[in-house]
Amino acid sequence: MRPLGLLGGTFDPVHYGHLRLAEEAREALDLDEVRWIPAGRPPHRQAPRVAASHRLEMVRQAVAGNPAFTVDDAETASGEPSYTVATLERLRAEQGARPLLLLMGADAFLGLAAWHRWRDLFALAHIGVATRPGVELSPADLPAELAAACAGRLDDAPDALKTAPAGRVVRFAMTPLAISASLLRARLAAGRSARYLLPDPVREYIDRQQLYRN
Ligand code: ATP
Repeated sequence: MRPLGLLGGTFDPVHYGHLRLAEEAREALDLDEVRWIPAGRPPHRQAPRVAASHRLEMVRQAVAGNPAFTVDDAETASGEPSYTVATLERLRAEQGARPLLLLMGADAFLGLAAWHRWRDLFALAHIGVATRPGVELSPADLPAELAAACAGRLDDAPDALKTAPAGRVVRFAMTPLAISASLLRARLAAGRSARYLLPDPVREYIDRQQLYRN
């Protein structure tokens, strides 16, 4: 069974780094669907700059037209903190034994051991880690407890993801794009151009709604 890709994030705002991550994961790891899951209240970082409803709408605009990309609004619809482990438990119940693949960039992966019930994630999903400019991902760079938890799970062959519902950690290289939402927020606040860093419909939405202005 081909895995269901899952891409969580704050998407404050969504940009081409996210879109290439999802597209290159789909291609490299042979996924038929990547489900985007904007976080409502991300527990382990500062509150997002704009409301969940705006971040959800920007993701909808960004993925429109790609039949392999879908949007899951459960986290933004809930008033509760968005714990990935709870989302994966819900999706596991919904998807049966279908392999689930939690996608993230290298920076997010390096911080995994701070996530709520992080050790339970490995029983619920595979993890797919994309390279990100400026972030080292060799085993020596992993925090010790994360390296220990990943021992025996690392496998860069995509087919390993199809033979079990969860438990493998695969790394994949994506086109290096040093775009971040923080950089975009700073640009937009300074009244500078965000064009070609995110999709036009998202940029137009930001303009219309007057988001990220100082
Ligand atoms: P911020 O700058 O506000 O921290 P961000 O650009 O990292 O935001 P998030 O919504 O926090 O965006 O990221 C969602 C996921 O996408 C994370 O797993 C993150 O590592 C990954 N990601 C974001 N941008 C890139 C990029 N340019 N290259 C690779 N991965 C990325």
